Amino acid sequence: MICVTIARETNDELRRSWEMAARAGAGLAEIRLDYLTEPVDWKGLLSDKPTPVLVTVRRTIDGGRWSGDESSRRALIIEATENGADWVDIEVDIAHHLPRTGISRRIISFHDMMATPCNLDEITERCRDGDADLIKLAVMGHSLNDALNLLGSVARSHAKSPTMGLSMGDWGQFTRVANARFGQSWTYAAFDSSSSPAPGMITHSDLVGIYGYNRICASTKLFGVIGDPVHHSKSPLVHNLAFRHHDLDMVYVPIRISAGDLDGFIRRMRDWGFYGLSVTIPHKESVIELLDEVDSLVALTGSCNTVLAGVAEGGRLEGFNTDLAAALGSLSEAVGGGPQALSGKQVLLIGAGGVARSLAFGLSRAGAEVVITNRTFSRALDLCNEVGSGVRVVAWADRDGVARESAIIVNATSVGMSPNLEYSPLDGNSMHSGQVVFDTIYTPEWTKLLSDARTAGATTLSGVGMFVRQAVAQSELFTGGLVAPSGAMSESLRTSLKKAV
Ligand code: NAP
Repeated sequence: MICVTIARETNDELRRSWEMAARAGAGLAEIRLDYLTEPVDWKGLLSDKPTPVLVTVRRTIDGGRWSGDESSRRALIIEATENGADWVDIEVDIAHHLPRTGISRRIISFHDMMATPCNLDEITERCRDGDADLIKLAVMGHSLNDALNLLGSVARSHAKSPTMGLSMGDWGQFTRVANARFGQSWTYAAFDSSSSPAPGMITHSDLVGIYGYNRICASTKLFGVIGDPVHHSKSPLVHNLAFRHHDLDMVYVPIRISAGDLDGFIRRMRDWGFYGLSVTIPHKESVIELLDEVDSLVALTGSCNTVLAGVAEGGRLEGFNTDLAAALGSLSEAVGGGPQALSGKQVLLIGAGGVARSLAFGLSRAGAEVVITNRTFSRALDLCNEVGSGVRVVAWADRDGVARESAIIVNATSVGMSPNLEYSPLDGNSMHSGQVVFDTIYTPEWTKLLSDARTAGATTLSGVGMFVRQAVAQSELFTGGLVAPSGAMSESLRTSLKKAV
């Protein structure tokens, strides 16, 4: 069930937003009385309730806005129980001062807006002692390990009595979706993107539209994208769409993970219910040494963007590279023909990171004459030496000159990526008609490089096609070969990118 948190300054606005949330399908509404700037109108608010309601009056130390005195706050919580609230939220440190009254059920909650304490098990016991119908922990996460520690403690407590836990902020955002997989009663959602009363809270429309939250249960298989940062990733959008297209009991979440936590998470991913992962910046290379086996393209490129756990015999970890075929397929199509269309053509490849690695090996195999340039020259040189024949390097300062004489230009750097929209890795004058210019960036779809290339009369290709192709191939790995709905994935990605502009 989704509980929409509604924080408004007037009773009328609060009630109106609650009715809208009910019409949108919210199963429960949390009304935040600490945001009200006028006295509570219990009758106007709670008569003929649009959904069951949870009443919360949050203190500032717990992330709320209550500015009155503590005795008035406690009086409001008691009044809520007398006026028909289905649930009230009572902080653990005052639970013994507020004995049960009325018919309202009691959430006994603990908040830490700064960190994830290491004594979570002890805290859940204190909450249980406070006459809890439901225990709630909401703590700030500063790493994936914080989020996993929270999930572990919640699971131990939930085995004794109903418990929920949310890891606030970026690192634990996935817990707001995956908690249903671990049997928790509900998740909290923001009413809309402009009103998020807690860090990392996801909107009701995204929980329903992207994640299909109400379908998630104990049997749901978890998938995700691991990276740092990861909150702007469009992978959850397209992968969840593909899962729902086939009516699969699977959900896909973004997981922010630092290099230091990678090993521990990858080795235990099945214990946490994860069956497959997309891998993005900066883990595509470092993840490889943690895997039991890799496909020939990972072995060739040293770059892995997909991990499967447990499909191979014995729950082994397998790595795949779907970037190479996606990038080459997209580019060959734009050049007009199969991979042989690239043979003999000079390609200026800008960048020497994960995507550039796949492209360098793929282009070289397709017979192109690859010229690599990169801000950090030594990385370009290393890549050139690894790929071997058919590849040379040029200094970063010489890239515009080489661009002019190349048939194909590929940007595999993040220069021009949102929010740095005014940047381009090339001078606009170095492009001309007859060239194909491919920018692997897909946020935004139309970068400055591509706008300049179009003005110069070149054929342009954005990273959207490559993104969808690599996701389609990943989805087919995740689903055991079911054909992914590429048209719908592409359309929903483009719609979402347009909205973001
Ligand atoms: P990566 O491994 O981190 O490599 C980043 C590359 O960008 C490096 O070559 C880096 O140069 C260069 N770079 C970063 N900031 C720069 C700057 N200010 N000036 C010049 N060069 C700079 O990243 P990746 O995974 O290869 O991703 C690269 C690009 O591919 C990203 O923009 C991403 O949007 C795009 N991408 C597209 C898809 C798709 O499906 N369309 C998929 C994945 C990624 P140094 O070596 O000097 O640091």
